[in-house]
Amino acid sequence: MKPIQLISPVDGSVYAERTPLTRAEADAVVGRARAAQKAWAGRPLADRISLVKAGVARLNEMKDPVVEEIAWQMGRPTRFGGEFGGVNARTEYMSEIAAKTLAPLMIEETNSFRRYLAREPLGVVFIVAPWNYPYLTTINTLVPALIAGNAVVLKHASQTMLVGERLAEAFHAAGIPEDVFQNVVLDHATTEALIAARSFGFVNFTGSVGGGQAIERAAAGTFTPLGLELGGKDPGYVRADANVDAAIDTLMDGAMYNAGQCCCGIERIYVHERHYDRFVEGAVAWASGLKLGNPFDAATTLGPMANKRFAATVRNQIAEAVAAGAKPLIDPKLFPADDGGAYLAPQVLVNVDHSMKVMMEESFGPVVGIMKVKDDEEAIRLMNDSPYGLTASIWTNDYDVAAGIGARIETGTIFMNRADYLDPALCWTGCKDTGRGGSLSYLGFHSVTRPKSYHLKQV
Ligand code: NAP
Repeated sequence: MKPIQLISPVDGSVYAERTPLTRAEADAVVGRARAAQKAWAGRPLADRISLVKAGVARLNEMKDPVVEEIAWQMGRPTRFGGEFGGVNARTEYMSEIAAKTLAPLMIEETNSFRRYLAREPLGVVFIVAPWNYPYLTTINTLVPALIAGNAVVLKHASQTMLVGERLAEAFHAAGIPEDVFQNVVLDHATTEALIAARSFGFVNFTGSVGGGQAIERAAAGTFTPLGLELGGKDPGYVRADANVDAAIDTLMDGAMYNAGQCCCGIERIYVHERHYDRFVEGAVAWASGLKLGNPFDAATTLGPMANKRFAATVRNQIAEAVAAGAKPLIDPKLFPADDGGAYLAPQVLVNVDHSMKVMMEESFGPVVGIMKVKDDEEAIRLMNDSPYGLTASIWTNDYDVAAGIGARIETGTIFMNRADYLDPALCWTGCKDTGRGGSLSYLGFHSVTRPKSYHLKQV
C-alpha cells in the first residue's frame, strides 16, 4: 500500500508518514475487535467507566507533546493548550450519566409480568474522525461507545493521524485491552469496503458532506446505523435588543477561533439595522487585533489553516464575492504573515448576499460575511436559506423571543448569547446537509446502543 503523508501546515514539511492497512489486515482488526467485545461488555459498568476515565487521565499526562503535535499537524496555536477542557468535561459528564442512561427501564414488575426495555451495545463501533478538533470529535463517540460495552476501531484523518496513536497509547496504558480499542490507518477504499461488508455495528463519521455521502453509499443495504456529523454554515443574528459589545466579542471569536475551522463556527452574521454600523466597526477592530503567525509563537492567536488547499478554497470564495460586489474590510497587508498559502489573513466582508458562495457554502476558514436586516422575519428567512443546519446564535436577552425564533429555524442547536460551544448535557446534532444522528447527552448513549425489549410472563 502507498504510504499516507501528513504535510504540516506550519512549514510544509512531511511531519509523519504511515502505511495504510491492506484489506486483509483491516479484516483481521475487525475480527479481533469482535472477539474482544463480548468479554468487554461482560465486565461491570463501573469497571468500564473507571478504565475509560483512567485512559483520559493518561492522555492528560501527555499534554505537552499532545499540544505540540496538534500545532504541527493542523496549525492550532499552542497558547490554546489543546482540547483538554472539553475532553475532560465530556468524559466526566458521560461517565456520570452512564448508569442511569444504560439501566433497563422497568415498565411492569408484578406477580404476572416483568416487562422492561434494556439497552445493548452494538458490537464494534467504527469512528471516522476529522482533523479540525481531532480529540474532541473522537472523544464524543469513543467514550460512550466504550462505556456502553462496544469495541472501537478508530480511523483518524490523515492530517491528524498521530491523534489516534496518542489515544490508543493512553487508553492501553490505562488498561483497556488492545483489541477493545484499535487505532488504524486506512485509505478511503478500504474504509468504504469494510463498511460495505457489514463489519460494524455502528459507524460514526464526522467530516465533510461529500465524505458523509460516500459513507452512506458504502453502507447502503447493510442496515448499519450511521451517525453523520457533517458541515455547517452557522448564522449569528444580532437583534435590536442585543448587547452589541458581547455579540461582537462572541460572534467574532466564533468566526475566527481555530482559523475558522470549527463545524459550528460562525460563518454569516445578520445584524439589525439599528446596530449594523457599530457592529461592523467592532467586528473589523476585533479581527484586526488577531495575530497571524507561527503556532509555536506565544503571541499567535491565528495559526495557519490545516492545509494550504483549505486556505485556497477560502481565498477563492473571498475573491469571487469581491468580484461580485462584496467589500473586504480588512487589508491583508496588515497581516504580513499571510503567505498566499496556508497562512491566511482574517477577512470581514460586507455588501454580501446569498448569491455568493461565501454566504452559502461552508468556508471553514477565517472569513465572515455581515448583512443588515430590518426585523426577525428577514433574519429568520436568511438563516433558513442554507443547505446546512448545525447551530444558530441569537442575540437578545429575552428567553421567549430566542426560543420563539429558534422554533422556526431549521438547525440542531439554538444558542442565545453564545456560540461555537458544545454542552455535554445537550445533544450534538444537525439537520439538512449537516447530517443526522446525535452525540453527547443521554441520547449519545442511544446512538451506541440498541433497545432490547423483555416481555416476561408468568403462567
Ligand atoms: P473529510 O475530508 O470528510 O474527512 C473526515 C474523515 O473522513 C477523515 O478521516 C477522512 O480521511 C475520512 N474520509 C473522507 N472521505 C472519505 C471517503 N470517501 N471514504 C472514507 N473515508 C473518508 O472532512 P475533514 O476535512 O477532515 O473535516 C472537516 C469537515 O468536518 C467540515 O465540513 C466540518 O464542518 C466537519 N465537521 C463536522 C462536525 C460536526 O459535529 N457536525 C464536527 C467537526 C467537523 P482522510 O483524512 O484520510 O481523507
